[in-house]
Amino acid sequence: MDLIRIKDVKKQYKNGVTAICDLNLAIKKGDFAFIIGGSGSGKSTLIKMLYREEKPTCGEIIVGGVNVAKLRNKKVYKIRRKLGIVFQDYRLLPKLNVYENVAFALEVLGAKKDEIRVKVLKAIELVGLKAKVHNYPDQLSGGEQQRVAIARAIVNEPKLLICDEPTGNLDPERSMEIVKILDDINQTCGTTIIMATHDRDIVNKMKKRVLVLKDGRLVKDYEKGTYRNEDI
Ligand code: ADP
Repeated sequence: MDLIRIKDVKKQYKNGVTAICDLNLAIKKGDFAFIIGGSGSGKSTLIKMLYREEKPTCGEIIVGGVNVAKLRNKKVYKIRRKLGIVFQDYRLLPKLNVYENVAFALEVLGAKKDEIRVKVLKAIELVGLKAKVHNYPDQLSGGEQQRVAIARAIVNEPKLLICDEPTGNLDPERSMEIVKILDDINQTCGTTIIMATHDRDIVNKMKKRVLVLKDGRLVKDYEKGTYRNEDI
């Protein structure tokens, strides 16, 4: 079953730049897909349209049965609740510790304290940070901060986890740890994962689906792909 279906999508920004053009794409439930492409090829625009940070100029973007392109602004929160999002720059709250950063996502949804505790500890364990639940973000390495961001993104058990250059600020070893965690989440929880990346080592090692964007167009779609220079 398709979790995401993108049909004839075009995105033109107000300044006239066409960031995405003629995009058609389906992503199955449980897939793990990399989005690669040079700078300015449209990766971020595509990712932002999935969580309705940007709206396509035309076309359909169906995520979990909902056309997010048509969704009213007032209802965007409904789709966001079903997604987890991880950014390059972690975006943790500096005055909250690891536990509180992850719990915050559930508290705003009005979950009960006991339920929050069980879910938060499970998510923190999944990313291997149990020993650091009381640490604050400035007491963690970049890789650890990104693991907290992943725990926060998955704590509500989303069907889809969207990652925009999650390893962009990390060294190769930490980057690999992060992607292994994402792979583990994909395999054990069945979470569909979409990850935009520049990291050729990761793409080559993981052998996942690879979607290649060039000048806003999907030019290649490999089932178990690698990062080929000639595609970029
Ligand atoms: P990537 O993530 O692959 O680097 P982007 O999606 O950020 O690509 O950008 C695709 C194109 O859209 C680029 O030409 C970029 O300059 C342009 N672009 C991105 N965001 C905006 C914006 N908010 N307004 C105008 N143009 C934008």
